[in-house]
Amino acid sequence: MRKNPTFLSSLMENKEIAQMLWQLQIRFDPEKCKGVYQCYMVCPVGCWTPDRPRRKVIFHNPEKCIACGACVLQCPEDAIELR
Ligand code: SF4
Ligand code: SF4
Repeated sequence: MRKNPTFLSSLMENKEIAQMLWQLQIRFDPEKCKGVYQCYMVCPVGCWTPDRPRRKVIFHNPEKCIACGACVLQCPEDAIELR
């Protein structure tokens, strides 16, 4: 069976994107966090837990993070980076 070149190039492109995402890690600065919990609300895999008495969040389960970037985009305090 002949392989479709468009399919193959798309597969290679997706593989490169997946490899790049795999290397990204969350960098969280608790000093900047004001406890609005947007990150907690948008994370699709439950990486954030509210620490309500301290008005902060706790980043845990980093191995679950799929580097979707939702928390980075939603944080109004720029407390989260993916790099
Ligand atoms: S969205 Fe930003 S400021 Fe709000 S709880 Fe998460 S890290 Fe803290
Ligand atoms: S990048 Fe996505 S999966 Fe990772 S902690 Fe942020 S919202 Fe959750």
